[in-house]
Amino acid sequence: MRKKIVAGNWKMNMTFEEGQILTSEIVNMYKDENIKDVVAILNPPFPHIFPVKKLVGDVAGVKIGAQNCSDKESGAFTGEVSAKILASFGVEYVIIGHSERREYFHEGNELLAVKVKEALAHGLKPIFCCGESLDIRTAGTHEPNVKFQLTESLFDLSPEDFSKVVIAYEPIWAIGTGKTATAEQAQEMHAALRRHIASKYGKDIAAETSILYGGSCNPKNAQEIFSKEDVDGGLIGGASLKSRDFMDIIKSF
Ligand code: PGA
Repeated sequence: MRKKIVAGNWKMNMTFEEGQILTSEIVNMYKDENIKDVVAILNPPFPHIFPVKKLVGDVAGVKIGAQNCSDKESGAFTGEVSAKILASFGVEYVIIGHSERREYFHEGNELLAVKVKEALAHGLKPIFCCGESLDIRTAGTHEPNVKFQLTESLFDLSPEDFSKVVIAYEPIWAIGTGKTATAEQAQEMHAALRRHIASKYGKDIAAETSILYGGSCNPKNAQEIFSKEDVDGGLIGGASLKSRDFMDIIKSF
């Protein structure tokens, strides 16, 4: 049975105090509301990682992720944070290839392949983001486009390494726009990605790979999207900054 996951991507939001309050609220609700079978991953900005991790403590099911990591292991790379450093702070997941990193920081498939390997080499599980622009969706070439992102950045991995990767399908036109993909559009792409993974790694690994949907997911639409067979959870931006909304999304399965 593949994991159900709801990951919160805080992006460049939250002061220290706001982050502490948000984390405490989420952790308390997660315990009080007796969540058992959904892994919650908090992905705050780097300086929050250590204090957020301390607050989460040993609550099973709440994990810490970073939003990015360097493609280098260590050295003179001012401003960068490596997978090795993240792992030493107890981080378990790292988002790689978010469309904002691809667009604003010019991260391409080849660089992302290196980042994925670097993360895995230090025991981090990549949450690998893929997704098409509105132009590509309008042209109808979204499926080959998104499959290609996986091929280029992930298909060099050994089966053992690939099985540690979580996929997040995030159509760019749905991110932060309030315009979600329909549940059918999400299911169609998730099923296509699972078939693509099966063609390279076989049916068993494909069936075990968690594929998350991201893009304006909120407590109102999560239930319908998560009800689809190949949707295993969500990568949540805006709605992850409000504890109640984030928890309601977690409870949408
Ligand atoms: P959104 O962001 O939920 O605010 O659309 C999702 C994401 O960028 O991961």
